Amino acid sequence: MPINPWIAKAVVLAGAVVMIAIRAPHGRRSRSAKVATNRKTSLEIGLLAFAWVAFFIPLVWVATPVFGFAEYPLRIGPLVAGVMCLAIGLWLFYRSHADLGTNWSVTLEIREQHQLVTNGIYRRIRHPMYSAMLLYAIGQALAIPNWVAAPSNLIAFAILIALRLRHEERMMVDQFGGDYAAYAARTKRLVPGIW
Ligand code: SAH
Repeated sequence: MPINPWIAKAVVLAGAVVMIAIRAPHGRRSRSAKVATNRKTSLEIGLLAFAWVAFFIPLVWVATPVFGFAEYPLRIGPLVAGVMCLAIGLWLFYRSHADLGTNWSVTLEIREQHQLVTNGIYRRIRHPMYSAMLLYAIGQALAIPNWVAAPSNLIAFAILIALRLRHEERMMVDQFGGDYAAYAARTKRLVPGIW
């Protein structure tokens, strides 16, 4: 039995509001922590712009009928699975922001007082915030009954993470040397115990 798509719209809107609310205080705080090294290449700038556009596409779907041509019926199974992915993703997003503190940046940067974080959720995997963003995007892909809005974030985050991960880890090794190498040797990247 198809479900009213407004339920998915409410879920997607609530998820985006929670994500913005989690990040906002860190965004404000990080502006006061001075940057020592910046590796914001033109590739990074392009990827960030792409991710911003992708983040807003589901919200455009919530608020306007422009993607009406791409609707399909909403089913209970994908909706429930999507809500679970969104909830776990947002919890992980909150935890990783809390553990990373002022060492967080939206792009590839090292702060003046940068500390290598290997505790809390970072004890389990090296990139919990990227795992969180992927879970959030998978949740949207499942819960949104629209061919344009459903995969938008998943495509953008997957490309961003795939192209950034190697540069980020090289930057961390350049900064923290053997400490990061040892940390990398005992942890997985995105999925505990697997990769
Ligand atoms: N990749 C991490 C962090 C994302 S934010 C995650 O997914 O959780 C990106 C910034 O975090 C990078 O510019 C880098 O400066 C910083 N960073 C990444 N891993 C870190 C760590 N283990 N300790 C401290 N800072 C880290």
